[in-house]
Amino acid sequence: TSLFAAVEMAPRDPILGLNEQFNADTNPNKVNLGVGVYFDENGKLPLLKCVAQAEKQMMEAPTARGYLPIDGIAAYDKAVQGLVFGADSAAVKEGRVATVQGIGGTGGLKIGADFLKRLNPNAKVLISDPSWENHRALFTNAGFTVDTYPYYDAAKKGVNFDAMLAGLKAAPAGTVVVLHACCHNPTGYDITPAQWAQVVDAVKAAKLVPFLDMAYQGFGEGIKEDGAVIEQFMAAGLDFFVSTSFSKSFSLYGERVGALSVVCESKDEAARVLSQLKIVIRTNYSNPPTHGAQVVATVLNTPALRTLWEEELAGMRVRIKEMRTLLVEKLKAAGIKQDMSFITSQKGMFSYSGLSKDQMQRLRSEFGIYGVDSGRICVAALNKKNIDAVVSAIAKVS
Ligand code: PLP
Repeated sequence: TSLFAAVEMAPRDPILGLNEQFNADTNPNKVNLGVGVYFDENGKLPLLKCVAQAEKQMMEAPTARGYLPIDGIAAYDKAVQGLVFGADSAAVKEGRVATVQGIGGTGGLKIGADFLKRLNPNAKVLISDPSWENHRALFTNAGFTVDTYPYYDAAKKGVNFDAMLAGLKAAPAGTVVVLHACCHNPTGYDITPAQWAQVVDAVKAAKLVPFLDMAYQGFGEGIKEDGAVIEQFMAAGLDFFVSTSFSKSFSLYGERVGALSVVCESKDEAARVLSQLKIVIRTNYSNPPTHGAQVVATVLNTPALRTLWEEELAGMRVRIKEMRTLLVEKLKAAGIKQDMSFITSQKGMFSYSGLSKDQMQRLRSEFGIYGVDSGRICVAALNKKNIDAVVSAIAKVS
């Protein structure tokens, strides 16, 4: 018999499966709100001007493509540190932060997970309930037992913060806690700075290992505002992990640009951690690709391009907020009795709409409006042309 005779068919990715279903749908008014991607007002994936200009510059002075260092482009890693920890960060200046280029935010998480598994093989991992689905799969595949801490409160349309805090406080020392730094995926609900302060205290008291996933910096309130949580962890003197993704903030999904940063107690410790991160990378994919990180480094390190990027990122952020406001207004005008204003209190690309699995399935089959069964819709895929179709469909299933 064949070597592969006993291989089972793995379940297909639920969101990618939804995309396939969407593409096959012949409804001319179909709208895809299932994706985790920002579309512009014309429903198109944007190519940012700052990216196009950086690429033009790069093409005017083409370079050979040697192997990069295992930890990536030095100027890129430095730019990531400036963005994540702030230009004046003491930890960065003291050389206490080890940063490596990663294959997207997912790659940053995976490098961190593999390193943590070597460091503390018996640690458990806690992710939020619910979380980005890949958190569970990624840490499970890295060999960890993954459990959840309470997060979403459906009745309250927000975060059950008391339960979250109690869940963290009850975790054994050494537990890795994956926290969404901003723009929680899938719910859209973030905790406040005052609540973050309590999380930091709890994590410190219980000796947990914080792993901040920052996939949407700049999509919530602003680059600095969204990064403020990092400062809180630094001020507490904690050792922690931060994964960074530029997929959304640079609209560079397919280039796979991200990073992992590990904040350590001393420069010497950071050097040893970096050496271990390099082993993880070396034995997985040897060294990272050149193009995307070169684009991001060029933009972040060229003042005019950086200003342009900040404007373009603000444009995406503001447009999403406008869509949230418009959605709430139009749902109200369509006669929905329930107060839907919670949609404007959510941050980032996603909204837990509060719609049931049954309603989400009706939206899909009867109206060609594709969202996730959990009720998650991508607000960044709404625009002035498709929002009326979405609202009228929601009104009909409500
Ligand atoms: N973390 C979260 C919370 C995400 O939502 C995503 C992307 O959807 C990622 C990480 C991964 O980002 P990337 O596409 O850069 O790997």
